[in-house]
Amino acid sequence: MFKTPRSFSYSSASLFKQCPRRWKHKYIDKLPDPTGEAALVGTFAHDVLEQLCEQEPALRTEAKAKEIAGKNWTKFAENTDFKKLELDEESQRAFRWKTWEAVQGLWHLEDPTKVAVEATEQKLSTSLSGVPFFGIVDRLDRNKDGLTVVDYKTGKVRNDNIDQVLLYSAAVTSQTGEQPSKARLFYLGNKEITPQIIETDVSEDLIDKVVEDLSDTWKKLNADLDSEEFEPMPTPLCGWCSFIEECTDGIEFIKKRASSGKLRSDAPARSALGL
Ligand code: SF4
Repeated sequence: MFKTPRSFSYSSASLFKQCPRRWKHKYIDKLPDPTGEAALVGTFAHDVLEQLCEQEPALRTEAKAKEIAGKNWTKFAENTDFKKLELDEESQRAFRWKTWEAVQGLWHLEDPTKVAVEATEQKLSTSLSGVPFFGIVDRLDRNKDGLTVVDYKTGKVRNDNIDQVLLYSAAVTSQTGEQPSKARLFYLGNKEITPQIIETDVSEDLIDKVVEDLSDTWKKLNADLDSEEFEPMPTPLCGWCSFIEECTDGIEFIKKRASSGKLRSDAPARSALGL
């Protein structure tokens, strides 16, 4: 019987729902799971925007963001996961450009000098229907209707991501006693993706729904921890799973996709399995 985790985040719950075996490899076996290039672009952009929004409103300009990005770069380039990408000079330039496109996306969505930022990178640690939830909210804004939960995204628009900001809204309510009025996802965009905001009003019904879903996932996780059986659930995402070499079901699934021409050319599983 494996030990119950001390806390459960939205990303941990999402990973378990996607594939319990992948969750086990990451959180129980603690196998290496390096952050990929796309996620590192997001990390860099998040850090710049966090520091930008900590400035006085009038100072939240693109020039200031550029200055922060420049200062942050040297330290970031020493990051182990970034070094593992082994990017040559040209690819590093392309990487920096992608991070800048993401940061600049903010000005397509709002004028940050006019936003009343209440907190950045707000840690949330609270019990939601008995689940020890932990999360970090990118930004909490205050406007005339109350609090708004904001999360930045650097990837493609995914409608289920709204559950993440609703869950953060539930945690803010539980932790502070104040229910946010809005939950917003800022898709910062890039050359291919148009920047956009997806948002919802926060209601008790929506909060109850996401908390119930979290609680169901938590129960299923605890059943797997008791039985020590974590079922593999092969999907096209196996192509991006760091643990593919450990997983016979995943290997079989990916090989079938490759032979039917369905495996994307940029799937890391190609090189991991020599396809
Ligand atoms: S390869 Fe696929 S089935 Fe196997 S652990 Fe990874 S995601 Fe799950």
